[in-house]
Amino acid sequence: MENLTITKIVSGLKAKKFSCREVVSHYLKNIKGKNEEIRAYLDVFEEEALRQADGIDEKIGAEEIDTTVMGMPIAVKDNILIRGTKTTAGSKILEPYIASYSATVIEKLKHAGAVFLGKTNLDEFAMGSSTENSAFGPTRNPYDLGRVPGGSSGGSAAAVAADLALAALGSDTGGSIRQPASFCGVVGLKPTYGGVSRHGLIAMASSLDQIGPITKTVEDASLLFEAIRGRDRYDATTVETKPFVLDRRGSLRGLKVGVPKEYFGEGLEGDVGARIHQAIAELTRLGAEVQEISLPHARLALPVYYLVMPAEVSANLARFDGIRYGFSIADRCGHSQSRTDAENLYEVYAKTRADGFSAEVKRRIMLGTYALSAGYYDAYYNKAQQVRRLIQEDFKSAFRTVDIIVGPTSPTPAFRLGERTANPLQMYLADIYTVAVNLAGIPALSLPCGTVEREEKNLPVGLQFIGKWFDETTILSAAYTFEQGRKS
Ligand code: GLN
Repeated sequence: MENLTITKIVSGLKAKKFSCREVVSHYLKNIKGKNEEIRAYLDVFEEEALRQADGIDEKIGAEEIDTTVMGMPIAVKDNILIRGTKTTAGSKILEPYIASYSATVIEKLKHAGAVFLGKTNLDEFAMGSSTENSAFGPTRNPYDLGRVPGGSSGGSAAAVAADLALAALGSDTGGSIRQPASFCGVVGLKPTYGGVSRHGLIAMASSLDQIGPITKTVEDASLLFEAIRGRDRYDATTVETKPFVLDRRGSLRGLKVGVPKEYFGEGLEGDVGARIHQAIAELTRLGAEVQEISLPHARLALPVYYLVMPAEVSANLARFDGIRYGFSIADRCGHSQSRTDAENLYEVYAKTRADGFSAEVKRRIMLGTYALSAGYYDAYYNKAQQVRRLIQEDFKSAFRTVDIIVGPTSPTPAFRLGERTANPLQMYLADIYTVAVNLAGIPALSLPCGTVEREEKNLPVGLQFIGKWFDETTILSAAYTFEQGRKS
């Protein structure tokens, strides 16, 4: 049961080497042993997972199922709905919300025979880079328990890294799949905007959000991506794309790789930069033609993201008002004479939101409301949308000369718990190389490319591959070749 991959599970199940129940029990045992210290999961579906596994075993026995992900035990970020189960999005304000339907990605995976192990921890409403903004306490990095796993999909990345799940789903609005994948030494793919349905994902910033896989290998990421992608009538932004095939030629001959000079400036830690340069030399050795390129508006990506994202956050989070979902201050009225009792409807809204949201969420709602307000709309929100277009144009013109863009995922390895919580700006800098991809809507992945030493621990470094719109094939194939090349 060690070093399992999706392909190994599927072939083992078919050859009757083991049963799905055995596979799932293995992961449940790992969760029992390690989740208490890592805190990757908020909720584990022990009985339900075994029941699902038995169902798969029966279907395999009767030859009623034969898919590329059957029997795959998967963890799900707790902002993706699974019908009948608790969904918190890492926030107090949703408690005790039970999902009344399943996300499209969940329906697809269920149909394909995946088994859901549980829900993973995240920064509240996916806002953060360390999973420390969760109302349920932080997740810890399996490589060093004193460090963060990254965020916001920190629970998913830590679960995969510590072998508490074979694979996981995360969501990426500005880096939340790639950055934790980088911090935890696993593979994370943010698909093209419109590649995967967002139906049933609790919205953070709707023009940026995408669901994607976090896995141990590039091949697993491509199998999981293939299982969830495609048009969905419940998400009008989705499109049908070509079936996906990994190129396994083992060479990168003819591939044009661009290395943006703006991704190697101030802030990038020296040894992290050195790992990235080594990886780029490796791409050359594998046959790629590497050239320096420029993304002239790169330095504006973070400020643009921190206007567009909060603007959308302020609109999306208006629905958590103490009336429609979960927690409400109104429930306490009449039971006590506490100061928090609401006198009228306005106070129900205001006090529920004051009590239910954390400081970071409130900060973003306020920033977004300000950026959208009359008199400031043109100066902030509109201006940001104009610059967003320039950032897209940078990528468009780069992709006229190169096939993929390569650089660091994050300027640093995992930082210490508590190191950045007091300084939001420093926390936001963790996303400096990831947000532009979401603003442009293109696909990108992070994959491990070595380690750096911090306080006598080896911490993973992630290499980012950025691709053209709907061209996941090229980045996944290049990453696969790089990964195989490192093994040999
Ligand atoms: N860390 C970024 C933020 O705080 C990205 C979050 C995300 O991708 N969900 O907004």
